[in-house]
Amino acid sequence: MLKQEITSKFAELLDIARGSFDHVMQTTRDNFDVFVETAATLLREERPLPLAVDEVNTPAELLQMDMALLAAAPIAAVPRHAPFHPLQENGHRFLLAEGGLFVEVRRPWLHFIHQLAEHKVVAIPYGPVAPKCEMDFGKLGTALAQLKEFAVKARADAPIEAAASVLWDHRQKTWRIEYPEIIGEASASRIQYRQVEPGPDESVAIDLHSHGHLNAFFSETDDADDRGAVKVSGVYGNLDTDKPTVAFRLCVLGLYIPLVVPAEKIFG
Ligand SMILES: [Zn+2]
Repeated sequence: MLKQEITSKFAELLDIARGSFDHVMQTTRDNFDVFVETAATLLREERPLPLAVDEVNTPAELLQMDMALLAAAPIAAVPRHAPFHPLQENGHRFLLAEGGLFVEVRRPWLHFIHQLAEHKVVAIPYGPVAPKCEMDFGKLGTALAQLKEFAVKARADAPIEAAASVLWDHRQKTWRIEYPEIIGEASASRIQYRQVEPGPDESVAIDLHSHGHLNAFFSETDDADDRGAVKVSGVYGNLDTDKPTVAFRLCVLGLYIPLVVPAEKIFG
C-alpha cells in the first residue's frame, strides 16, 4: 500500500513535470534522471512513516522486522471525507475510526468489521465505520445437510469424540464435509487429527467436534485450539439422549462470538 502511495504521488509529480515537458526534454537525459532521483528522495523524506521510529538511526534489520509486522497487520485511518474502501485481500488490519479501534478481517468466505475499543474522550478526527459480519454463504443454515450428516456420525461414535471440517467453495458456492484423519486414539474428551487440506477455492469455514455424552460447550481446550483462528466452530453434545445439544460460535483472531443454532434443526 505504501509503495502504491509513493508510486501514485510520483505519477502526480511526473504529470506536473509533463506540463513543462518541452522544457524538460530540452535538457539532457542525465538532467532528467537527476530530476527523477531528486523527486524520489524528496518524496521519501516527506512521506509520513506509519511506524513511530527514527527511520535514519534505527538499525535496518530492526526496521525491517517492524515493517514486516506492519505489513502483516497494518493500521489504517478511516476516511472522514472520501468513501471507505474495504480490505480487498485475505488478512486483517486495524482501523482507527472516530469511535475508536476496530479490526477488519477478510477471508474468501468472510468480511468482518468489529469494534475492539470504544473511545470518545480525545476527539479522533477520522471517519465512522460500521460493524459488519458478512459471510459469503449467507447463513449457517445453508450447510444444514452437512451439519445433519455430522450429527449422524457424532451419534454413532459417541461416547468417543468425533470431528469434521465443513468446507466452503467460494467459486462454486457449495459446501462439502470432510472427516479428518485421526492421529492416535480418540477418547471421550480428546481427539487429535490432521487438519483437512482445503482445495484451491475452498476454506474450512466450519469446524465441528462432539462431546459424546457431555453437553455442548466450549471447553478450555476448545478455546486453546480455536485461538487465533478465523472459522465457525461447532460442538455437539448429549448424544446419548433424545435431546442432543449444540453450541456454535464465530472465532475471529481470539474473539468468540456466539451464534444461535437450534439443536432441533440439526437433530430434528
Ligand atoms: Zn470441545
